Amino acid sequence: MAMANTERCRKPNPLALLLFVSLSLCLHFSRASSSSPSLLGFQGSAAARGLKQVQENIHEHEVHCSRERSRAASKIIEEYLTPFIEKERYQLPNKCRLHPDYDLFRDQEQHKIYVDINEWRCGYCRKSFYEEKYLDQHFDNRHYELLNVSQGKCLADLCGALHCDLMMDSVQKKTKCNPAAAVRNKHLCESLADSCFPVKEGPSASRLHEFFLRQFCDAHNCSGRQKPFSKGRRKRRSIFFISMSILVLLLLPLFYLFVYLYQRGIRRGTQDLRRVTESTRKKKPS
Ligand SMILES: [Zn+2]
Repeated sequence: MAMANTERCRKPNPLALLLFVSLSLCLHFSRASSSSPSLLGFQGSAAARGLKQVQENIHEHEVHCSRERSRAASKIIEEYLTPFIEKERYQLPNKCRLHPDYDLFRDQEQHKIYVDINEWRCGYCRKSFYEEKYLDQHFDNRHYELLNVSQGKCLADLCGALHCDLMMDSVQKKTKCNPAAAVRNKHLCESLADSCFPVKEGPSASRLHEFFLRQFCDAHNCSGRQKPFSKGRRKRRSIFFISMSILVLLLLPLFYLFVYLYQRGIRRGTQDLRRVTESTRKKKPS
């Protein structure tokens, strides 16, 4: 009885054998299949990883430089500084960080086509978008290679000096003034004035230097007495707007007069025609 028991134990179980064989075969095949193409797969994944790294590097730069804040800074320069520079016929030196070349996003921003309120078009590939933010996303995803990514070319870095928050918030929030930040921003602001409008360059540079301090730098303190942009903004657009309004106001009565005369002409024409037909009808029976 005991003998039979041990014999049964020694006898290999066919089911376990089959399981073992199939498992080892499976292992062998998986190893074989991963031996030669694995190199290819590895190379592919390495290339993909490299590409991803490049993309991440570029996106890292984008993260470091805010498109929105760069846009605000650019708008402030365009409205509160450029008209005064143009008036003085002054050329910003290349080392000046307010120079348009220092705007990383300038080329992309210039390739935005505003069609109407619900349509923005990409100037590179002509694709249309409902909102500007989707076009921004499209630029980030499809045309990031066009960004001139290099160190120190981020206009958003100057936002502290240029008061970008005022431009970006439609409703101004009352935040507590931070004296350390105010000192830092004033320092940046004054360094911009020195590098962009060196006093020794001549009378126009020195006038603009003074102007820049009043327009942007004076307000960097916690007293709240000086307001930024004290010297005003560009007036060119308002003059254009006024002249266009006057032109429209002059043309509108002329247009209505033309429509009135035209309709009166048609009415008189039909009345004449009716009179002619009636007279011919009257003549016919006699
Ligand atoms: Zn595009």
